[in-house]
Amino acid sequence: MAEHVCAENVEWHLNLQHFGDTNIKYLEVKGACNVCNRAVSFRGPAGLNQSHPTVAIDGSEAVFPFLFSDEEFDGKAVGFSVSIPGGN
Ligand SMILES: [Zn+2]
Repeated sequence: MAEHVCAENVEWHLNLQHFGDTNIKYLEVKGACNVCNRAVSFRGPAGLNQSHPTVAIDGSEAVFPFLFSDEEFDGKAVGFSVSIPGGN
C-alpha cells in the first residue's frame, strides 16, 4: 500500500475491557488519520493474552493488558498469541 504522507494527526480510540475470569484489565487502542481517515495498522504478536500486549490479526487494534500497581494476578491463565513472520 502507498506510503502515508499526511502530517501526523491521528485520532486515537481507547476502550477499557476486562479479561475473562481474571482480574486483568486491558486497554484496546485503535487509531485513524484525521486527514485521510486511513487506519493505523499495529504490529506485534497476534491474539489476546493476559501476559503481554498483542494485536488483532488484521492489525486494526492493539491490546495492552494491565493490573493496577500492587495488584497481583488472580485467575486462570488463558489467552494465546502468534507471531507472524514479517509482521502483519
Ligand atoms: Zn492521512
